[in-house]
Amino acid sequence: MMNPAPTHPPIGGLQTLPGDEVRQIMWRFADRYDLAMLVQSARTAARGPVARLVAAGARNSHEWTPEKAGLLPVFDEAGITAAFLDPEFGGFIPGPKNLALALVAFELAWVDAGAATCSLAGNLGLAPIHERGTPEQRAHYMSLAAPPAAGETRRQIRAAFALTEPIPFVGVETGMLSGKAKIVEWQEGKEPVLQVEKRGRFITNMGFANVVTAAVDSDDPRIKGSFMVILEEGDPGTFDRGTPTKKLVHQLSSTRDPVFSLRVPASRIIGGYTVKDGVILPRYSHSAIIEAVFRRTRVTVGLMTSAKLLSAIAPVIMYQRRRFRGGDGAPGTPRYEFGLQQKEDVLQRLVDVWATGEASASLGFAAARLFDELDPLEKEQERIMKEKGLLGRAVFKEMAAAQETALSLLETLGADRDLSSTATDPLVRFAVLDSVANVLCPACKLWNTGHGANMMREAVSLMGGYGVTEDCPGFLGQKWMDAQLEATYEGPEAVQRLQLSLTMTNELFLAQFRRWILDLKRLSSVKPGTGACALGTAMQLWLWTLNHLRTATDAEGAKLYHKSRQGVTFPLADALCWLLAARQFVLDIGELETKAQENPENAESFLGVASFFTDLSHVQCARAAGEVGRICAELVHGFRRHPQWDAQSEASCYCSSELESLESIIPGIQDAARGRGVVTEPGQAHPFKAGPCVSIGNLATFAQLRSKLDTCLTGARLAKDRAAEALTRVMIPEALDYPV
Ligand SMILES: Cc1cc2nc3c(=O)[nH]c(=O)nc-3n(C[C@H](O)[C@H](O)[C@H](O)COP(=O)(O)OP(=O)(O)OC[C@H]3O[C@@H](n4cnc5c(N)ncnc54)[C@H](O)[C@@H]3O)c2cc1C
Repeated sequence: MMNPAPTHPPIGGLQTLPGDEVRQIMWRFADRYDLAMLVQSARTAARGPVARLVAAGARNSHEWTPEKAGLLPVFDEAGITAAFLDPEFGGFIPGPKNLALALVAFELAWVDAGAATCSLAGNLGLAPIHERGTPEQRAHYMSLAAPPAAGETRRQIRAAFALTEPIPFVGVETGMLSGKAKIVEWQEGKEPVLQVEKRGRFITNMGFANVVTAAVDSDDPRIKGSFMVILEEGDPGTFDRGTPTKKLVHQLSSTRDPVFSLRVPASRIIGGYTVKDGVILPRYSHSAIIEAVFRRTRVTVGLMTSAKLLSAIAPVIMYQRRRFRGGDGAPGTPRYEFGLQQKEDVLQRLVDVWATGEASASLGFAAARLFDELDPLEKEQERIMKEKGLLGRAVFKEMAAAQETALSLLETLGADRDLSSTATDPLVRFAVLDSVANVLCPACKLWNTGHGANMMREAVSLMGGYGVTEDCPGFLGQKWMDAQLEATYEGPEAVQRLQLSLTMTNELFLAQFRRWILDLKRLSSVKPGTGACALGTAMQLWLWTLNHLRTATDAEGAKLYHKSRQGVTFPLADALCWLLAARQFVLDIGELETKAQENPENAESFLGVASFFTDLSHVQCARAAGEVGRICAELVHGFRRHPQWDAQSEASCYCSSELESLESIIPGIQDAARGRGVVTEPGQAHPFKAGPCVSIGNLATFAQLRSKLDTCLTGARLAKDRAAEALTRVMIPEALDYPV
């Protein structure tokens, strides 16, 4: 261990970097021995073969080289490939695997996210079959994806997922498919044969994949709509892997622009089909399948960027402490012992990186766990609908009723009770969890990767010139660039914001969000110093702003909260992400404290980490509150004309009873409004036809909340000072844990 400077008093609080036991508690897999083992084997692969490959410069080529291909058997042997599969198909983890796969991605991306992507893209390729395939498709392809057992000679399936097409077709807009399928043979009583034409752009794993799940549209009046289809190397026709993508990122995965022109039986349509009046009706459209797939896999991508941020802590501290060793500096002097850590700014910036990494990991793992909970309920929901013979709109109606039941249950539920566990009806439970999952997934993909990429730049900057070299310890420069791909693939930030702008207004989500505010307020009264108070107030402000924007109009009288107004909905979605991440970090610290009390052996070290994390969370909550305050203020005020100008332009009128309260927010407004004669007395009719009447009462409430938010920041900078100080004292290993 690299010891802290001897000049310091004995250490309380954080002594070493948080270890596995702390992580298992915070991310709730302390009782999952199988997952602990999986983490260890993924880590061995990452910090061994993967790290050696990166250190040897394998990232300098975008070709799929034999050295890179050598990672595939490494993943197989480590159990990483089979982690995706159910035990009956050669896997070893029963039940849902979202958390398991998230942990694998986290471990691999700790060293190199390209390696993580290489493994995960195989799962993504199989996911359409896993989520929506027929039982036969699932059994066939999943069991062939399992690594062959000793002595088995079969060819293993390696899959790719082909949605994106050459410009001008599918990208963010997933509906604009140029990939087509038509029927070329349909003999009486036999399976129809399809001709599939699909060109892909940026398709991961295409250097070696032998099975591709591709999105196509009908090019035949005898096929209805779009669907996904399974293509195999060896099918009659062309299976051209295409040219490699000249990537600047994730070079340990293979990405190419393939071309397929293949004849396949209609039984390859994912999810199957029925025939009505001589027309093939695929059971699932391509968009229904990708929705089911991405809502899970995007969480894992979000966690890759979290791993990068947290992996930066040790290398940066090591660099800072050693920066001035050698020369005339002698051991024991502050310059020798603390190096750059004598400077407050480098410590505080690292605190920000660390706090972001923690909050994003907390959010990502919470989302992964939520999907583990949701998966069986989703199956149950499908079973019930099938049993009741409901389809399409009828399913929607049934779920709307379940949502209503959930909302009324929430009204009567005690403050300390959790709705998802109280509700016994599986449809109600599904509605409750689904409304949150629909927010957490895009939030985690958006915030972890987007804001995470910005914070990776901060981490890189702390390494000085080293940061932008291949020699940078912890490969931080490459990780910075890689983070941008994580923000882009599986739907860039715009896609996540679009989704959030719809799902975050679901009344069931908002009802739960209101309860979370109360929980945080309660927490802040029993445990001050977590930042929960600022966070709760920021959540109130966000909610107020959402409600306001949903009914307010801009200076021209146009609706503000509307799908075409991304300038309103997108920033509000961003603001929500800050809140969700910080909240989850606060909750995870609470879990660590609770478990510390149940675990006397480790109580001291757990509580030490928890007290440091409490300061980090205070920092993060304050930062989140600041972001939310800024965004909300811009949205609430930014679409109005300046009240003084407004008053002068006679575009709006002001009620005299409310004008006084506005004076405290905008000094001089009374005189300006009265001078222009745009003031109405109580009961008087609106004197101007054009322009909205300004509701001053509303704005006063907003101003009060904003001002309360500011005072809630009390102590946040003291927490940052303490956290920064802890970084000068924490013991870190003498050498990085990779490459070996
Ligand atoms: C290395 C790599 C690997 C990949 N692997 C795969 C894979 O395995 N399979 C696969 O199918 N795809 C894959 N992709 C493709 C990836 O998912 C797409 O690049 C991504 O979804 C964005 O599509 P696009 O590049 O066409 O961007 P565009 O659609 O051109 O969008 C560009 C930008 O325009 C803006 N924008 C676009 N539409 C909107 C809108 N409606 N509202 C607001 N803003 C908008 C956004 O800022 C967006 O980022 C990969 C890409 C890369 C780089």
